[in-house]
Amino acid sequence: MTADKLAFINDDIAALKEQGLFINIRTIQSPQGAWVEVDGKRALNLCSNNYLGLANHPALKEAAQRAIERYGVGPGAVRSIAGTLDIHLQLEERLARFKGVEGVISFQSGFCANLAVIPALVEREDVIFSDELNHASIIDGSRLSRAQIERFPHADPTALEQMLAEKRGNFRRALVVTDGVFSMDGDIAPLDKEYQVAERYGCLFMVDDAHGEGVMGHGGRGIVDHFGLHGQVDVEIGTLSKAFGVMGGYVAGKKLITDYLRQRARPFLFSSAATPADVAACLAGVDLLESSTALVDQLWANTRFFKAEMQRLGFDLGRSVTPITPVMLGEAPLAKEFSRQLFEEGVFAMALGFPTVPRGKARIRVMVSATLQQRDLEFGLEAFARVGKRLGVLR
Ligand SMILES: *Cc1c(COP(=O)(O)O)cnc(C)c1O
Repeated sequence: MTADKLAFINDDIAALKEQGLFINIRTIQSPQGAWVEVDGKRALNLCSNNYLGLANHPALKEAAQRAIERYGVGPGAVRSIAGTLDIHLQLEERLARFKGVEGVISFQSGFCANLAVIPALVEREDVIFSDELNHASIIDGSRLSRAQIERFPHADPTALEQMLAEKRGNFRRALVVTDGVFSMDGDIAPLDKEYQVAERYGCLFMVDDAHGEGVMGHGGRGIVDHFGLHGQVDVEIGTLSKAFGVMGGYVAGKKLITDYLRQRARPFLFSSAATPADVAACLAGVDLLESSTALVDQLWANTRFFKAEMQRLGFDLGRSVTPITPVMLGEAPLAKEFSRQLFEEGVFAMALGFPTVPRGKARIRVMVSATLQQRDLEFGLEAFARVGKRLGVLR
């Protein structure tokens, strides 16, 4: 009986394998950095979101160790009962200053931050206008809210305006939500135009800055800083798991909203707080970013060099304008074979296929990092050139 009840799983796995979409997850045996030990092999790391190298930075590690000595390893409870430490509040104050907002509330992850804020802002009587390429956590947070979800064409403020003109009037509250930097293509939302449209139709406006944090704006202050929209965007989502190199997420915006979430956000009220070590490491990360723009500058210098050389080789990098560098290959089996051959050449870069990206748009996604030295970038470029020629992607 059990075998029959679970047959759908075997069927689905077989289908994934047949379509070249089954994910083989590699194991890392070293810290994150320019080079990592992967499945027993030393390889150039071109696929982590550790943009600035903070995941293994001495200052963050030392801060985490000191926090363990002082506070122990676990928070002991959810924040609203007995889990809020003084360092949780310090981190929120420091992040608010860094982002130039009134208030911040931190969560266990960026994913949790989206699940927390969207259902607190809109409900069954309301509507969400959501970019069609938004991150899965925005989609899930939107579904949890029970509001009606209207997907607008990607990064298209004109189409958004038409939808608002047609539909906004049928609902009580409305939320317009978009990723700032789109994680699969590395393009950015036209935030200034979308904000103006949202404002004209009386909608709340929210941006998920997970890949903009530590990357875009002055010294990595994010996409809102990049567009100079301080005080205008109602809600910003940040993650501490990417450029910040640790783990966690947050909602930034008006204090009215972030304080409200302390009363209403379910991941805040029903899931334990982030650990002292994580929080202390994040505080050290804010210190670093506030003290110097050197890491962010290095990230962009590496990005400009790598992308120019890849384009010179003849690769199609899609519409990327950020360190996220998709190498467009088409069908998933080709992308997987490309990734496998890169690994044989000592380069760790993952293939992404459906459902992470649309069908027929499989790719290798290279994540440029500030930790890469010039010789590392050249090593990666040479491997891409060899595999590209071997597989007939380059002529
Ligand atoms: C990665 C990502 C998240 C999730 O952040 P975590 O801190 O890893 O949970 C949310 N939104 C976007 C746009 C992301 O890219």
